[in-house]
Amino acid sequence: MNQPSPENLEKMWKYARKFAQKTGTFFSPVEGVTEAVVTGLASHMDELGKPLCPCNFYPDKQAESRNRRWLCACDEMQKYKYCHCLLYVREDGMPITEHLPEGHEGREMYGEQADPAPHLGRAMRQVADQGIQDWHSRPEDSQPE
Ligand code: SF4
Repeated sequence: MNQPSPENLEKMWKYARKFAQKTGTFFSPVEGVTEAVVTGLASHMDELGKPLCPCNFYPDKQAESRNRRWLCACDEMQKYKYCHCLLYVREDGMPITEHLPEGHEGREMYGEQADPAPHLGRAMRQVADQGIQDWHSRPEDSQPE
């Protein structure tokens, strides 16, 4: 991978530090994880002009970058405080999974990991909570066995 421009690298480090602070999350204690993700975000800034999540495969990056879903901080982070790139994690390095809906791959992979600062972050929490309420209020015959 080409090194991103110093401007975008600095911009993304600044953004990531601020977002972690604002949401009560931490950078991974595993060496190299944070650097790799921030570098990937900065490269997407160079390429697309948007901080598209670097941990997914996209058939069409340009098209995806026009949606907000996977722009950092992505919808999953804003709704559930879950970062599958492990950029924003707990102090012990585990991703937060407690707000994820049942059956989400993050829960399957990491089990239930509590959010140590549940009052912070989750700007789209209402969307997520509404989604969960809708799920539970569906007629029984429309729910999976
Ligand atoms: S998973 Fe979401 S919050 Fe984490 S780095 Fe990717 S876009 Fe950002």
